Amino acid sequence: MQIADLIMEIFAAKGSSAYFGEPVSQREHALQTAHLAEIDGARNWLIVAALLHDIGHLLHELPEHVADLGIDPRHEDIGQGWLAQYFGPEVTAPVRLHVDAKRYLCATDPAYLALLSPASVQSLQLQGGPFNEEGVRVFEQQPFAREAVRLRRWDDIAKVPGLHVPGLEHYLAMIQAVQLRAV
Ligand code: FE
Repeated sequence: MQIADLIMEIFAAKGSSAYFGEPVSQREHALQTAHLAEIDGARNWLIVAALLHDIGHLLHELPEHVADLGIDPRHEDIGQGWLAQYFGPEVTAPVRLHVDAKRYLCATDPAYLALLSPASVQSLQLQGGPFNEEGVRVFEQQPFAREAVRLRRWDDIAKVPGLHVPGLEHYLAMIQAVQLRAV
């Protein structure tokens, strides 16, 4: 099966589930994040990463209210591991780092914490809280850290109920073009 078809299937099966504690579904959240990346002028591989950054949530079987149970499902690692079968590090690294990017922004941008939704603040604690100085330094040295921060900022505002944005089909050719290609 082609990767784009597989992604269509996964979103068809699980995309209607709620985006933990937010007023949009997983599909709406993914499509809004990708659209924000596209209108911000991101390269195709980063738009694909934005679209698929939470696919780990669609691949694991934990209930929607996992944060209330005190569980961090490490969806960024699940997503990265799965995506690495099909995509290079330019896609997988921003996905893996998008949670660390939140911890980074909380530590370095005083205005950022105020932007986070209550659900995102709750999961921040499970994810280890804001980085300390050492964490900030280590994060900045990782390849694609800047891209992960860009992705994170789109991610945080891609929660608008009923917003009209292009559908999954808009991204299928892009997904095919980006798969396992060097930057
Ligand atoms: Fe997200």
